[in-house]
Parts: sequence; structure tokens; C-alpha cells
Amino acid sequence: MQGLIQDRQLLISSLIEFAALYHGDTEIVTRTVEGPIHRYTYRDLHDRSKQLANALTRLGVKHGDRIGTLAWNTYRHFELYYGVSGMGAVLHTVNPRLFPEQIDYIVNHAEDQYLFFDLTFVPLVEKLAPQLKTVKGFVLMTDAAHMPKDSKIPNLLCYEDLIGKESKEFTWPEFDERTASSLCYTSGTTGNPKGVLYSHRSTVLHSYAVCQRDGLNLGSADTALVIVPLFHANAWGVPYGACMSGAKLVFPGPALDGKSVYELLRDENCNFSLGVPTVWLAFFQYIDQNAASLDLKKDIKLERCVIGGSAAPRAMIERFAKQFDCFVIHAWGMTEMSPLGTTGNLLKKHAGLPLEKRLDVQAKQGRTVYGVEIKITDDEGKELPRDGKAFGNVKVRGPWITSGYFKGEGGKILDDEGWFTTGDVATLDPDGYMQITDRAKDVIKSGGEWISSIDLENAAVGHPAVQEAAVIGVPHAKWQERPLLLVIKKAGQETTKEELLAFLEGKVAKWWLPDDIVFVDELPHTATGKLLKTKLREQYKDYKLPTPGA
Ligand code: ADP
Repeated sequence: MQGLIQDRQLLISSLIEFAALYHGDTEIVTRTVEGPIHRYTYRDLHDRSKQLANALTRLGVKHGDRIGTLAWNTYRHFELYYGVSGMGAVLHTVNPRLFPEQIDYIVNHAEDQYLFFDLTFVPLVEKLAPQLKTVKGFVLMTDAAHMPKDSKIPNLLCYEDLIGKESKEFTWPEFDERTASSLCYTSGTTGNPKGVLYSHRSTVLHSYAVCQRDGLNLGSADTALVIVPLFHANAWGVPYGACMSGAKLVFPGPALDGKSVYELLRDENCNFSLGVPTVWLAFFQYIDQNAASLDLKKDIKLERCVIGGSAAPRAMIERFAKQFDCFVIHAWGMTEMSPLGTTGNLLKKHAGLPLEKRLDVQAKQGRTVYGVEIKITDDEGKELPRDGKAFGNVKVRGPWITSGYFKGEGGKILDDEGWFTTGDVATLDPDGYMQITDRAKDVIKSGGEWISSIDLENAAVGHPAVQEAAVIGVPHAKWQERPLLLVIKKAGQETTKEELLAFLEGKVAKWWLPDDIVFVDELPHTATGKLLKTKLREQYKDYKLPTPGA
């Protein structure tokens, strides 16, 4: 027997309709690419998304066509999230930090019909345009006054002119909720980037997790500074969750340096924010360098901050707690997972825990949100116990997790029971908290045992003189591999190898202590701010460790 409930389709357009109706006056604030602060409301967002949908229709964009973006976090990019997907086309957010050859590959592979881009990327698009065979037109996301006079870009359109002449009347079409809505490529540190194709259904379901108290906990009372890019894994689902919840949003545009982030948090009274650890490193560096002239207690009203994308170091979570009384929601996920997998919220049993003990819980990557099933297995695929000790390959399944890459790249990626192998290695404790120890390919194998590079890095950045740390395995004659710690010192701070080793002692198992420490000026990162360990391993592959047998 079937239930007798209306079979309304879960469509992205329903999110913006809801926000415009019930949070119509709530503000969306942007530091624009052109410079000034721009303000409008969810009602305006809805109107302009519909104007955009009319403009796309006039350009001949059809159901299922891909529309590319190369853009920062701004209200115009946000309009594309709704205008494009809402009309039944597919929003393809391209990460502008990728190498130009990768962008070329991705846009061609996706067969984007139009490319919308910010002023920052005019030189990049001028260079790439001749290779982008499927792109019929390029839309510069600015007004007429800022259009370049003599650009080499063919079929160049001005965003404001394009949508400005369109009607605000547009009826969002109804279609199957399984229709593709957006496309995002993984950065692919090895091989070509692969596309993850989301659906309206997966996106709306994922939004519930963004707004859930034990998810990202985004609600109508929040003012959220969205630092995580709209081009990276759907900005962790916030653009959709924001409409579902009606939170006030603040977009930083291209200015992601410590000073700009500080000023936006202060000026817009933000109580919520989201970003990868590297952004917060720069933020705290700015605070340290300008401590005398800042009134932290008065300026920063952050209550919650979501940190993910790479492991949030315990010292960072502690600093948020002590300096701002701000609770860090440590989150883990991946592009293939829309991206939410786990969030580090507390359980009733943790109430009243002293800070040190609470940080032990928060430093883990958290518990799975409803909608994601998770397990760890050994290399033969046998499930491992949830005892907080055994570590193994993380596998996931659920209604917002990919079932295969765009155009079948990479072949079959699910096992016979529908599990997707994430490539991460972790423990799961009896309360369900997951702790990532490594990417499977970054695990250090020493004498048949595994050493967690993430644990070592986190311990190292707890030292007051350490700005950033990376640990890689380098070949060792006796142990096969041993850890090498690479450290960037904070400006004006000193430490030595001996002092750092003494600091790490007791914080990690003795046999995990790095065999050597090298001080460096910079560390390589991927386009999404993660340590680029493949490059480091290549760089240090012939490194001679000072330990016996090496
Ligand atoms: P990309 O590979 O394009 O940078 P993803 O965001 O999809 O983008 O990367 C996902 C990977 O990032 C995860 O598989 C995991 O290795 C890492 N990651 C994400 N969040 C965390 C976290 N909180 N702690 C440790 N690693 C994380």
C-alpha cells in the first residue's frame, strides 16, 4: 500500500521562493569585486534570479545545459545558484585557483554553454577563450561602467545589461526532482579532475542537514560570513541552507585576507562563519600583528564557526573558544558528498565538560548527520569496530553522495552494496565521533604500523612559534618509511628542532615522533587550500634522515 501524501518534487526553486516569502526583508551583504559594499534582500535575490532565468531563456539556454562560473562569493554568483538551477539548467562552478590547463579541461569536459566570470578573471578568460569550444558567450559579472573598453574576449556580455532589461516575472518550471542541478569538479591531485553532478533532490535533502541543530546549525537568527567559496563544494551547502533558514548572509568577495575578514565580522556583527583552516590562520596572524590597536571583545561576536576542508588543529579550536567564546563546529566532507559527512557537535553527556576535555571531543571530525551512513573497513573490506582505536578506510552512502562521476569517468565507483570509498582513513568511537588520521595515500607506514600525519601536524601547530606544519613519510631502510616534519615559523618567533621534539614528546606515541624537522618558508597547497603532499613527497623523496638505518 502506498502512502497518501502529496508527491511534491524537491526543487531548488522552492528554497528561494520560501526565502523571498518568509524572509523577504533579510539582508544579503557583499563586499563587491568592484570595491564598495552592496546590500539587498532575499526578495531582491528572488527577483533578480528570475530576471536571470528570463535572460538565459532568451539566450537559448535549455534544460540540462551547463552554465560555468569563475567567480567569488558575491550576490551575483548567488543569483546564478538560483537562476540557473531553478530554470532547469546546470550550474557549473569552476574553481579559479586551478591551473589554467585544468580550467580549460573542465569547461570543455562539462561542455559549458556560457561562462559567467568576475572582473578579476578577465586576463584569465582572455587567455582561455579560444580553447573553450562549447562556450557561446562570456558574461562579465559587473555593470556597464566597469566593462573593459578593448577586451579580446569574443561575444562578451555585461551581466547587469543582460538581466536589467528582463521581466521579474518568471514561473519556475516543475520537473523531476532527480534532474541535475549543479556540477562541481574535484581538484584531482592525481589525474584529471572529475565532475560530481548533484540533483535538485540531493541538494534540498542536504540543506536540511545544513540547517539541523546537530548539522551546521544555520538558522534565521544568524548572520553568517560565508568565507568558504561558492566554487568549492557548493560552499558546504550554505547557499541552499541559507534560503531554507533565512539567515542573513555576508559575502566577502575576493578579499579573504585577515584584515578584510576581521572588518566584515566586525562591521556586520557576524555571529557565524565558515572557512578552511588556512583562512583562519591568516585571520589570527592579523590579530597577533595588530593586537594593540584592536578591541577584540567588542569587535568580534562570533558564536559558532564551521571549520573543515582539512583538519582543524586543536590549538585553533582552543583559540576560538578562549579568545571569542566561539564554538568551532569541526566538519568533514568532500565534493562527492555535497559535501557534508560529519559535524563535531556535542552530546548531552558533554555538558559542563572542562575546556580541555571538550577540546578532545571537538578536535575529532564529529558525528555523522542523518542522511549519511558511515563505516570503516580494513583493506579486504571487512568492517572494523567502532572502538575509537581501530582505523581503516572510510566508506559512506546516502541520498546526497555521488553514485558515479560525470560522463562515467573513473568507471564504477560504488561497491555492490552501494558504498563509496572516500579515500580517507579514520577511527570511529563508540559515540560515533570520527577521527580522520590521514588520506589513504598520505598514511605513513612505519615497520608495518601506521602513523597519522594529521595528528602530528596538529600537535606541532600547538607550539606557539609554529605557523603551519606538514608531515610526510620519507623512505627509511629499516622502517620502510619514517615521518619528516616541515615547519613554517611564525614571523618574529624562534624555535629549534630539539625544542620542538621535546614539545611533541608526550603528545603523540613515542615511535611517532618525527625523525627530523626542516624549517621552510612556505608549503605547497592545492586550489582548495589543502597541503599538497604529493609535491612535498616528490621534493623530499631523496631526503636523508639522520636516524640509524636510514
Ligand atoms: P578537493 O579535493 O577538491 O579539495 P574536497 O573538499 O572534496 O575537495 O576534499 C575532501 C577531502 O578533504 C576529504 O576526503 C578529506 O581528506 C579532507 N577533509 C575535509 N574535511 C576535513 C577535516 N575536517 N579533517 C580532515 N580532513 C578533511
